[in-house]
Amino acid sequence: MITSKLPNIGTTIFTRMSQLANEVGALNLSQGFPDFDGPQALLDAVARHVHSGHNQYAPMTGLPALREQVALKIAACYGRSVSADSEITITPGATQAIFCAIQTLIRAGDEVIVFDPSYDSYEPSVDLAGGRCVHVPLSQPDFAIDWQRLADAITPRTRLIILNSPHNPSGALLTRRDLDQLAELIRARDIYLISDEVYEHLVFDGAKHDSVLAHEELYQRAFVVSSFGKSYHVTGWKTGYVVAPPALSTELRKVHQYVSFCGVTPLQWGLADFMAANPQHVSELPAFYQAKRDLFCDRLEQSKFRFTRAAGTFFQLADYSAIRDDLDDVAMAEWLTREHGVAVIPISVFYQEPLKNLRLVRFCFAKREETLIQAAEKLCRI
Ligand code: PMP
Ligand code: GLN
Repeated sequence: MITSKLPNIGTTIFTRMSQLANEVGALNLSQGFPDFDGPQALLDAVARHVHSGHNQYAPMTGLPALREQVALKIAACYGRSVSADSEITITPGATQAIFCAIQTLIRAGDEVIVFDPSYDSYEPSVDLAGGRCVHVPLSQPDFAIDWQRLADAITPRTRLIILNSPHNPSGALLTRRDLDQLAELIRARDIYLISDEVYEHLVFDGAKHDSVLAHEELYQRAFVVSSFGKSYHVTGWKTGYVVAPPALSTELRKVHQYVSFCGVTPLQWGLADFMAANPQHVSELPAFYQAKRDLFCDRLEQSKFRFTRAAGTFFQLADYSAIRDDLDDVAMAEWLTREHGVAVIPISVFYQEPLKNLRLVRFCFAKREETLIQAAEKLCRI
């Protein structure tokens, strides 16, 4: 028998809930992906490149034209001039970017601070590198950083802190003040950052995303990760990137070149063409997704679910205690899927120690209007 390197890991909650949704024919508001396609011009561009022979390996660091577009976007959004050559690396998905950044930094015995609820890929990636996650719960009900708990969690072994803003699953945003406070806390320490910003363009109600890319001091020790999958409605393309200062990028690339070597070539060409022709696409995303959030939430107001509208991401949390306080969230997610035809994600699975009496489930509103309306109708009947 093989001795598992990840003995406590099974199939992810996203796979399980999507499977259950398919099995029972429920509307799938669980796993985070759009039920609509990316822009036609983007799909056409990729098809064009597939048919014009762009089907062999891309450069290890990513197609220059795509790295150029990412650099332009970063300059426009965050006012930072990054080198497309030495600071941007294209990866097959943000998940791989995060994995490579963790492998780059973490040695046996190192500690990595994650904030719970935390995205499911962080801890196994740290475990595989021989490190250990130290879980710091975000405060309730606003999912903000508890600065005292963070300060208490830092030890001489702390090597890395993983940030995620806009935050999955809560939709909470880190502010410039948070970043300043973090900078002060780690200034004198040898601690690096991974800033998971895959939902960077999904912020609502006029808020602005405070990227680590816009923070001079923090950027110097950061790997900032994003995903074309989220920003261009093509999660299945698994194409992302990581931005880091040259010395960090050099080390990350040593790992990346042996994990995958490079990203998928025609996808990179298509994305580069589309970004060049449609630089406004990302600035239209807040209104696009806010309309979906509000369509769903306006209707959900008529239900027994209680919620505060998400500040960012394409996820909406809702408290179901007025409906089935007797069920924990895993049981509730299954009950909603099987009995009421709407699949959701429980959030306790993103905690090391789930908070007692947390009665929250996560809905993904990256869906067509008719899906959201149908789902809300079902939820209002409960
Ligand atoms: N980080 C977070 C917070 C996410 O929600 C997701 C994705 N779904 C990822 C990383 C992974 O992105 P990708 O699909 O590009 O690997
Ligand atoms: N990030 C997606 C979510 O939070 C899921 C991605 C996956 O299935 N690995 O729903």
